[in-house]
Amino acid sequence: MLEIVIASGKGGVGKSTLSSTLALILGKNGEKVVAVDADAEAPNLHLIFGVKEWEIVKDYREGWIAKIRYEKCDNCGICEKECPFKAIKLVDDKYVINEMICEGCLTCSIACPQRAIYRVRTSSGLLRAGKTPYGFPIVGAKLAVGRPNSGKLVTEVKNLAKEIGGNDSYYIVDAAAGIGCQVVSSLAGANGVILVVEPTPASLNDVARLHKLVKHFMLPSAIVINKADINPDFIPEILRFAERENIQYLGKIPYDDKVPESLILMKPLIQVFPESPASKALIDISNRIYQEIILNWREWFRRYKPAKPEPYKPLIIRPDNIPGG
Ligand code: SF4
Ligand code: SF4
Repeated sequence: MLEIVIASGKGGVGKSTLSSTLALILGKNGEKVVAVDADAEAPNLHLIFGVKEWEIVKDYREGWIAKIRYEKCDNCGICEKECPFKAIKLVDDKYVINEMICEGCLTCSIACPQRAIYRVRTSSGLLRAGKTPYGFPIVGAKLAVGRPNSGKLVTEVKNLAKEIGGNDSYYIVDAAAGIGCQVVSSLAGANGVILVVEPTPASLNDVARLHKLVKHFMLPSAIVINKADINPDFIPEILRFAERENIQYLGKIPYDDKVPESLILMKPLIQVFPESPASKALIDISNRIYQEIILNWREWFRRYKPAKPEPYKPLIIRPDNIPGG
């Protein structure tokens, strides 16, 4: 069993296109593979595979929200003052909890002199699993609007994927963009990371931040440059970064109009336009990942494992501690 995460510092750089190609290449090589969409806020891997129906849909009830029993409430306003998330407001002479903001911390309930506030479980989103038309399963999630805990939802997605795929599957995890809790959950327990970057300073800057997180988890990584021809002069900068950080360079993918066309058709690029320039590059890179990383994982791990873990201090942002606020 191996878990390979496809990640990028920012969205729209081609993670899902590479993830879908890699899953297809593993499937074509007769491997057991599970495609895992670890972006619960903006899931899209199922759209690339043309999955319209799910075999399993589970409500994931993890969070709490507060509710007011108005028959007990005397409108004192203490809960509004005490809520650390500013989730309670006076509306039409009545204190109302904004359920999109409420974190279920119950500070209001403890503070309420009338014991008028209780909490209820709330749905954090849906866990979903199904089969792609290409013979392997896909697992993902859809976060409920305004709910927190997307990282926990991604952990549940990975747990469900492992229930389905068992100990002898390869897991291709299409991570969310950035360095947030969903990405932390994607990296936790993984075996390696493929970073996707565009040849722009912004994309490299974001991928460098992401790579610090990857180093925190002591994971080896490789890098792929997408839309390489939009700014070829910047490619040497990316290669210097990769060399400095001991990241394997796997190759580049050209900009290709066939990529958005394949997304409109809801089919993987290499299935509908196998001769397009981006398809050929994606197939080459995916074959390299299969041969050089997946089939050769122990050696690759030894060669590209970070020298030491990066210290990681998560910043918890609340209305009263916004930096500079
Ligand atoms: S603290 Fe309790 S009694 Fe006071 S306004 Fe809030 S819910 Fe009502
Ligand atoms: S549970 Fe916490 S976040 Fe929700 S309204 Fe009460 S104090 Fe605010």
